[in-house]
Amino acid sequence: TESSRIINFGAGPSALPDSVLEEATKGLLNFDNTGIGIAEISHRSPEFTSYLSSVEALIRSQLSVPTTHSILFTQGGGTAQFSAVVLNLLARHRLLFPDLKDEERNLDYVLTGSWSKSAHKEGLRMAGKHQVNVAADGRIYSKDSKSFDIIPPHESYKFSKDPVLIYYCENETVNGVQFKHDSESIDKEGKSIEGTFPFHLLPKDKLVPLVGDYSSSFMSRPIPRLADHAVIYAGAQKNIGPAGLTILIVRNDCIVDVDAAAALGAQPVPVTMSYKTLADNQSAYNTPPVLAIYISGLVLKRNAELGGMEYYEKVNRRKMQTVYGALREGEEKGVFRGHVQPGSESWMNVVFVVLGEGKEKAFLKGAEERGMSGIKGHRSVGGMRVSLYNAITEEQADKLAAYMREFIASQ
Ligand code: PLP
Repeated sequence: TESSRIINFGAGPSALPDSVLEEATKGLLNFDNTGIGIAEISHRSPEFTSYLSSVEALIRSQLSVPTTHSILFTQGGGTAQFSAVVLNLLARHRLLFPDLKDEERNLDYVLTGSWSKSAHKEGLRMAGKHQVNVAADGRIYSKDSKSFDIIPPHESYKFSKDPVLIYYCENETVNGVQFKHDSESIDKEGKSIEGTFPFHLLPKDKLVPLVGDYSSSFMSRPIPRLADHAVIYAGAQKNIGPAGLTILIVRNDCIVDVDAAAALGAQPVPVTMSYKTLADNQSAYNTPPVLAIYISGLVLKRNAELGGMEYYEKVNRRKMQTVYGALREGEEKGVFRGHVQPGSESWMNVVFVVLGEGKEKAFLKGAEERGMSGIKGHRSVGGMRVSLYNAITEEQADKLAAYMREFIASQ
């Protein structure tokens, strides 16, 4: 039951709903009344094939994915996409602009934390003679000029002309920095809504190769301007299911014949990384991660029953307000200090330090004693990190906030 399990505030793989795990144990023994378990059944069986289509349909309806975009399933996580997205979009660019030299094809990266930094590093590895630009860098605006603690201001963005891709990370899991989810990035007077991605600075008359890394915020609230993205990707292991499944939303003009591009001089693309391979084979060119797809499907079905993204947006906003509320009280009393500047705070990952010698240990120990775990921060940032993914309930967020207040009072 819910009460016998530890509350897992870990950053990923992270908590899953008890009801889903209980249902999954049945599927492990007998999937869809086949008498064969989900980890044993052929991925080519009609039962699994139809299950896979239903998972796609659940994502399409919950995120309102338009028909201009395909939903693809693969493996390798966000990390494999750091490379795959570069290769597929380099191929697209080659087909669009066959006569440009490599040197004239730029990749743009927006740096807001350690994951976008990793993506940028992989871009540099993959890019050969291409220019890899930093389109904006949050560190310039940070409290200490070196940490990632803010979404950069709109005026600081510099995009290349006709870039191969523009990459940004919607939620920085390690640093706790997230873009705001307004679908407009300017207000009615044309003034910037800071903290949003500057959609208004992108050309309007072109299909922009905008890439959103949604690894740690996918399905936690609606995706603003989804239709304006070329590629959105996420590993399942934060908000959706077990590790092993990677979900892609790809605009159809980005599903290109990578071999035709290679014939024009683009780099060859490994067959399993090509978006066209995935699209042409209903995401089952080779064996897909059947168990991860199964459990993710159960979670998505449950989401639909609860009210989809509208429900999660409401609940996740309340959870975030609860925990940041306790954090702000701790700041006033000199007990806690939040890592992220106002307006850039993540709903999913709340990063803060406990002030004073030995206090972090005491805070962690108290949390463990109360059945809460996974709140120690990432080694690169230190301090605490509380992850509030979909499976964390409001009651669990309340329990953490109550403990934070208890801790403040005891200091
Ligand atoms: N991008 C973000 C924002 C992440 O949080 C992570 C993992 O935590 C990754 C990329 C890498 O994902 P994976 O471990 O699935 O390769």
